[in-house]
Amino acid sequence: MYRLFFILLFLFIPLYFFSSSVVSRAEVVFFDVGQGDAFALKTPQGKIIAVDGGPDLSALYGWGRWLGWKRTIDILIISHGHSDHLAALPELVTRYQIKQALLPSGLSGIAAQTLLSGLRSQGTAIIYPQSETCWQLEPACSLCIFPPTAEFLKTDDENDWSLALHFNCDGLSLAAAGDANRRRELALLSSGFLWQAQILKASHHGADTSNDPSFVARVKPAVVVISVGADNTYGHPDPELINSLRVAGIKVWRTDEQGSVIFYANNKKINYRGLGF
Ligand SMILES: [Zn+2]
Repeated sequence: MYRLFFILLFLFIPLYFFSSSVVSRAEVVFFDVGQGDAFALKTPQGKIIAVDGGPDLSALYGWGRWLGWKRTIDILIISHGHSDHLAALPELVTRYQIKQALLPSGLSGIAAQTLLSGLRSQGTAIIYPQSETCWQLEPACSLCIFPPTAEFLKTDDENDWSLALHFNCDGLSLAAAGDANRRRELALLSSGFLWQAQILKASHHGADTSNDPSFVARVKPAVVVISVGADNTYGHPDPELINSLRVAGIKVWRTDEQGSVIFYANNKKINYRGLGF
């Protein structure tokens, strides 16, 4: 009996400590999902926010490793409806209870329909943000969402329909604008919001049509994360972007070269480490 107890203890203690969802701190995690986006945010009180679901099911592996046995996601955010941001989400809904979903306009296709019916059947509160909205998640944590204005919804470039976000939580901050093009990034600046953040998710996997220098300068990040697949056919990321970031002294983390990464705040200072997958 005692032997069984100790065997179970040895099995579960590493799982408990590896799954960072139990640690009381703000976190931002980017999963290496190849050519696509899948990342997540956590507040010190343990609220979990999932953003996008990558081009295949690989994000599920990252979720499992990071969340351990936790089975609830407080908020699911989808930047836009392109398949490289969506693929794992219909399956995610079958594995996790999603309390609230913040969704963009223009979700269509089989994956989106499967996802939506999954969300409806589990009673998720579905919101389609129509204007800049901020939520106080906890005393020291805010999440702001920026949907496109009507001007962009009139165009047929779905990248510009991306929900942009700003997360500022207990010494850790992140700005992300989905796959927005430069014109949309500049429109985000015109709202007067203070975009400064320690971490910037490069828009559109580091494409040369995104990541306008004015946008990057306004965010003023310490590190830019580029979620991108090795040897992709799009030429992402733009070598000029990488060069300009390095010249500006901004650290670059590429998921295709360095894999998944976790950022966390320690005494208001940003720390990070590769997750090894
Ligand atoms: Zn994309």
